[in-house]
Amino acid sequence: MKPKPSQVKNWSNNFIWVLVILMVISAAYSLLGGGLQQKKELSLSELVAKINSEEVTEIRVIDSALEIKLKNGEDFLAHKEPETGLTETLKNYGVQPEKLGKVNLNVVSRGGFNFFMGVILPIVVPVIIIALFIWMTARQVQRGSAQAFTFGQSRARLISPDNTKERITFKDVAGVKEAKEELKEIVDFLKNPKKFLEIGAKIPKGVLLMGAPGTGKTMLAKAVSGEAGVPFFHMSASEFIEMFVGVGASRTRDLFRLAKKSAPSIIFIDELDAIGRIRGAGLGGGHDEREQTLNQILVEMDGMETDDRVIVMAATNRPDVLDPALLRPGRFDRRVMLDLPDINDREEILKIHAKNKPLEKEVELRRIAERTPGFSGADLANLVNEAAIVAAREDRKKVGQMDLINSIEKVILGPERKSHILSQDEKKISAYHEAGHALVAASMKHADPVHKVSIVSRGRAAGYTLKLPLEDRHLYSRSHFRAELAMSMGGYAAEKLVFDEITTGASDDIRKATALARNLVTRFGMSEKIGPMALGEKEEMIFLGRELTTERNYSEDTAKLIDKEVKSLLDEAYEKAVSILTERRSKLDKIANTLIEKETLEREEFAKIVASN
Ligand code: ADP
Ligand code: ZN
Repeated sequence: MKPKPSQVKNWSNNFIWVLVILMVISAAYSLLGGGLQQKKELSLSELVAKINSEEVTEIRVIDSALEIKLKNGEDFLAHKEPETGLTETLKNYGVQPEKLGKVNLNVVSRGGFNFFMGVILPIVVPVIIIALFIWMTARQVQRGSAQAFTFGQSRARLISPDNTKERITFKDVAGVKEAKEELKEIVDFLKNPKKFLEIGAKIPKGVLLMGAPGTGKTMLAKAVSGEAGVPFFHMSASEFIEMFVGVGASRTRDLFRLAKKSAPSIIFIDELDAIGRIRGAGLGGGHDEREQTLNQILVEMDGMETDDRVIVMAATNRPDVLDPALLRPGRFDRRVMLDLPDINDREEILKIHAKNKPLEKEVELRRIAERTPGFSGADLANLVNEAAIVAAREDRKKVGQMDLINSIEKVILGPERKSHILSQDEKKISAYHEAGHALVAASMKHADPVHKVSIVSRGRAAGYTLKLPLEDRHLYSRSHFRAELAMSMGGYAAEKLVFDEITTGASDDIRKATALARNLVTRFGMSEKIGPMALGEKEEMIFLGRELTTERNYSEDTAKLIDKEVKSLLDEAYEKAVSILTERRSKLDKIANTLIEKETLEREEFAKIVASN
């Protein structure tokens, strides 16, 4: 990981500070020192001459230094050898004893300010500077910004139970009733461990939360800690492995040590699959960073006792790729599945996220929930937020129903790109392409109804046909997939039919259709010739963090058969699309022309055109 710019700035700031301090000190030194040195030096023979001529009134002896005061007020400095006494030295230089007697001789022992400046300061100042430097870096380390110094430490984010602002409870998590029910037991244990320990009950050490991204895994884990009122250590698995090799394991140790110290507590490891993938399949050798970290987690979990009262929760959206070692008893043996929310849950989630946003009276969240099958909790949170942003941008005080409805598409497809201007020709081609999709969809019984057709580009798509299922769906039939394939081919077929030409606009459709057809054949057992057989079972290979191709577990002959089946599904879909469009050519023209004129057709308008004759 690269240091963030702000950290770099902090560091250079520090150095500048140290430099400034050093400069100030050395300036002070030279000033003070210069002050001492400003007096003129006398040689001993000159001094003796001056004594003999009775010019000297006073001599102060400080070690080997002599400060000399003359009658005329001048000051001089002189030096003698340190070992011999002053009188003796002067005698050697031929001083007249009676003249010396008239001089006021003062022997001063070193002390006071001079002593401080001369002896203590040179020793103390560097020590102070070094201490200061260490203190400043230490402070940075505590802030978690000087990463180079923290590499052994866990860097987990902690939410303490007294942090009422970030505290989440089960009330804040809508839906996922079964998951909450399962997790209540954990809350109970963390709240009242004695009850469980006394009866000798074994409490799971590890809970694995499984579910699609954005279904609220992190949120739910936080809610467990919020309910139980215990500290929550949050760590993303990818953060274990960062800058230096060997860091992951020590971070893990550190994290567990911290958590045990503040037990009862929860450790939450996000994206467990980033380190917990099946071992030994990769090309990175047997001892890469990932594996060491994983091993350390297992060691820590095995070493934990029930009375450590630490529960490890982990989240993954790929439970299928997890190393079985993680799932063994005594490790993540409790598994909780989080599903995508159904219509009631969606309404609840919308309510939660709309709570502190003023809504117009007309707003019916139920309608929004109806229109958003397949949305995750995070998508819905995003949707409400987008709607609020739009309302605020238009200087409205409340969020309206239309804001919410428009945000649905924004969340699905990305923002509209009105600036993306199509030429007349492109507009015509796009219009026929989308009209093709829409008309095929509208003509097939098993296809989802068309919600909107548009040639305004959004995100990466030049135009789009938005269709949404009428209700939540858990099972998909072969007829549905066939309709889906035909509808994918609708754009391509329309271009071919109308212009006898094909553009790159259909490439994405073709890619998606091919992938779907391949799944029908190799995974869903929906091909007559191959039947119910799973082909190409995943053998995940990780190389530099990327998945390499899945290993083939079937013969060359089967491969040929698969290709043939995929091709025949696609051909069939294309034929179907062509036949529909040829038959309803006048409708196709009508839809396309309306699109060229209006750019966007809503569901009702579209239905009207299709129904008319
Ligand atoms: P995950 O960890 O499963 O990827 P998060 O827990 O990070 O998902 O959820 C992301 C966001 O989505 C949350 O911060 C919350 O705003 C919203 N969210 C997801 N599920 C729910 C839910 N069941 N109820 C309320 N909000 C939810
Ligand atoms: Zn298309």
